[in-house]
Amino acid sequence: MTIFDKCKRTHYSNEISPELEGETVKITGWVHEIRDLGGIVFVLIRDKNGITQLTAPSKKLSEEMMADVRAIRKETLVTITGTIQNSPKAPNGVEVIPSNIDVISVSKLPLPLDTTEKVDAEMDTRLDARFMDLRKHDVNAIFKIKSQMLHTARNYFYDNDFTEINTPKLVASATEGGTELFPITYFEKEAFLGQSPQLYKQTMMATGLDKVFEIGQIFRAEEHDTLRHLNEALSIDAEMCYHSQEDSMDVLEDLIKTILEDISAKCPQQLEELDHTLDIPSGKFPIVTYEEVLDIVNNNDVEMNYGEDLSRAAEKVLGETMGSYYFITDWPMSIKPFYVMPKEDDPEISTAFDLMYRDLELSSGSQRIHDYDLLYSQLEKKDLNPDSFEKYLEAFQYGMPPHSGWGMGADRLTMVITGAQNIRETVLFPRDRRRLTP
Ligand code: ATP
Ligand code: MG
Repeated sequence: MTIFDKCKRTHYSNEISPELEGETVKITGWVHEIRDLGGIVFVLIRDKNGITQLTAPSKKLSEEMMADVRAIRKETLVTITGTIQNSPKAPNGVEVIPSNIDVISVSKLPLPLDTTEKVDAEMDTRLDARFMDLRKHDVNAIFKIKSQMLHTARNYFYDNDFTEINTPKLVASATEGGTELFPITYFEKEAFLGQSPQLYKQTMMATGLDKVFEIGQIFRAEEHDTLRHLNEALSIDAEMCYHSQEDSMDVLEDLIKTILEDISAKCPQQLEELDHTLDIPSGKFPIVTYEEVLDIVNNNDVEMNYGEDLSRAAEKVLGETMGSYYFITDWPMSIKPFYVMPKEDDPEISTAFDLMYRDLELSSGSQRIHDYDLLYSQLEKKDLNPDSFEKYLEAFQYGMPPHSGWGMGADRLTMVITGAQNIRETVLFPRDRRRLTP
């Protein structure tokens, strides 16, 4: 018998129910908890779908079997063969009386963290032992939901005639000129890790692909240590020809709603595990203009001047006033990137929009400038050197269609749909100011 035959289960925990009473099953999982009451030993076995109770009464079992049961340790991987017996107090209303125990893979002790969560471990301890942290069903649920979210997003894009693209993350110059770049050594040259696929996805607008999306990592050398920033994040980017600002806002809104419906339908078990109720808004997402934001913020005793970005305090006030999902539009051109199209009737105001969930920015987008001369002058206006954007600019000289798009933080969206308060919860191996391993 190979090791794989040995641990081949007949059922996952959630598939074992009182109807199976008297049947022989084989379950494989990690030892979650052991309670030795002397005459009877209870062992909880955890697999990806739940927990099954093994019950070993010394009156019924051989001394040898009792010794085998008593020898197993927490987080060791075991395969138990046994008979189902109804037991209303046990998980799923059943217990398994063992006839054979195979230790498949032994766990070292002490454990790096307690998977039974009687002690709530510090985030650092959890991240240091992330593999063990993920054995906890609620932690696991976050990544199931994130995976479903990405699956739904991909489906949505495919269903709506988008082409998936993959652009380079090793780049020669800054996307937006900012200081938030990680320099790297690229043979004899200096290069950077990409902070956004912006320039590449816009270049794709000149190719005839018309609608593209990318799900990929972005790298930001931001120094700040917050609950919503990481130095490596996952971004869902979309760029669409012949779409106005409003059209691309509609796509974003539609995508979010599709994701919420899908998560609600396909991840009820995970949401329950997290004790999280999805906030599914009805009707269109409200829109507030930047000017209205200024009023709201200033009327709530947080100072904000025209031309300033939202401070953390401003985001909080706004989140309390607006609740749930909403857009902020009509941003001043002065605080938006060079590629953002100004409004036709007022060149000081931009076509940029942010999608917020309460006090959390989820996405930024806009109509983009497709006119070469305007783009060139906007680069200069932002004190950027057009020479370092030469290849990007070239795509605008050969019949660039009008277009718009947005980028959305996938980890931040995961926070919203799982109820996580810290972005680190939503990333397997987060990268922040202090953490580069594991
Ligand atoms: P913020 O103002 O919150 O720092 P930003 O405006 O700098 O965000 P954008 O450049 O607009 O971010 O990026 C688009 C989206 O990507 C953001 O709305 C956010 O959801 C996500 N994002 C950006 N930077 C980070 C980061 N450091 N960590 C996690 N997500 C990020
Ligand atoms: Mg932004």
